[in-house]
Amino acid sequence: MDDEELERPHEACGVFGLYGPGVDVARITYFGLFALQHRGQESAGIAVANSDGVACHRDMGLVNQIFTEEKMAMLKGSIAIGHTRYSTTGGSEISNAQPFVMTDPQLGEFALAHNGNLANATALQRRLNRQGHNLSSQSDSEIIAKLITLTPGANWEEKLCRVMPQLTAAYSIVICTQHELIALRDPYAVRPLVLGQMDDHWVVASETCAIDTIGGQYVREVAPGEIVRIDGDGVEHLHSKQAIPPRNRASCLFEHIYFARPDSDLGAGALYSARQRMGAELAREFQVPADIVISVPDSATPAATGYAAARGLPFMDGLIKNRYIGRTFIQPDQRLRELGVRLKFNPLPDVLRGKRVIMIDDSIVRGTTTRKLVQLLRQTGASEVHVAVTSPPFRHPCYLGIDVAQYDELIAHHHTTYADIAAAIGADSLHFLSLDSLIRATNLPAEHFCTGCLTGKYPVNVETDEVTSAADPLRRTTTHGIDRYARLSGEH
Ligand code: SF4
Repeated sequence: MDDEELERPHEACGVFGLYGPGVDVARITYFGLFALQHRGQESAGIAVANSDGVACHRDMGLVNQIFTEEKMAMLKGSIAIGHTRYSTTGGSEISNAQPFVMTDPQLGEFALAHNGNLANATALQRRLNRQGHNLSSQSDSEIIAKLITLTPGANWEEKLCRVMPQLTAAYSIVICTQHELIALRDPYAVRPLVLGQMDDHWVVASETCAIDTIGGQYVREVAPGEIVRIDGDGVEHLHSKQAIPPRNRASCLFEHIYFARPDSDLGAGALYSARQRMGAELAREFQVPADIVISVPDSATPAATGYAAARGLPFMDGLIKNRYIGRTFIQPDQRLRELGVRLKFNPLPDVLRGKRVIMIDDSIVRGTTTRKLVQLLRQTGASEVHVAVTSPPFRHPCYLGIDVAQYDELIAHHHTTYADIAAAIGADSLHFLSLDSLIRATNLPAEHFCTGCLTGKYPVNVETDEVTSAADPLRRTTTHGIDRYARLSGEH
């Protein structure tokens, strides 16, 4: 992974599912995954099911690298699920790619794809190992599939109603069995999961952009703690079960800031507009004199246009991003590595020379890339470089499915004042958007969100549930406790 990739928090997966008898479900799932590629670029897979069983193909790489016409031709069925992966628990290897296919002793073959990170994965894995069940991967998603096969139940819904209480968030899951498409979501609704329709066929996806891409219509989100079962076309074939009561909602705030695509709707309209409002809020809080506003493209561009409009300053492209670089499987040689961020961002001298620049970004994790970008802008001729960020500082790791650095790697963990961080990245000044202003920009209430990495208040007890770190499954946290959980949820 290069510096720029390390700099950003990483999404942990995208899931997609389609119940579509009579249509090429694998091909449509491919395009659904294509729309969710931003949620994970490490591996991808598609499983299709019909009454004969389940077929699956998964591999390392991007969706369009993995699936050829030949591979697609092998995936025939009437129900399909798909997955794009970025590793959180488990390493970057094919055994951890999804979907996982297993055989339930009572109910037959099924495939499962999961977005999220189980906060009690280590405890569950130990339990399975003690019982003599070995797993083929280090993925917490395989733990869930294994638990399903070991749990009694006359049908899938009964089994899942017994499995869900054993899982500590976060999970948004799609399953295809030989006769049903199933979607389930943890009671905190940490990761997104939405339902849509394509003609009469039901679709499930991590984000609405995937439903739009296949020409479908968004219907509603999968509710916290809900199991949705689909066994046919049309509304009469969608069956909903509140498997466990919803808890205090804790949807990931970073989906709104950065992870989800700007054309997705997470409950309050397109995120593009929310990000513009974040920029406008930033303009209220941070009014340093400047000539131009630029963004760290592409994710911070909506916020930068919102900031520039609110300040009455020109928004310009100061940095041009190579949009095709993707995940780098071929590492640059030493000479190119020394050019650092230039592989991804090239500055425009005509725009920057002699200008006082405000650079808008959506997050700073380690600060390494930001420092290099500030340096690059100065070398290109900017007379001043001010940095404004549409999120509060990352001060804590994430335990719920996002690969954020550990404490010792977070720049805001070492430098407590904004002036200190500005000095560390070489900027003339620096501002982070306040949490109140950020939440106001989402048009959703504060109670809707998890803010764990910003505030240290997590929706689940991350100490006593034997949390596995997102970056290292063997590393445990000992620094967050029940007090923070209690403050947020009033529960122990
Ligand atoms: S800790 Fe941060 S990144 Fe993780 S789920 Fe909560 S808001 Fe999202």
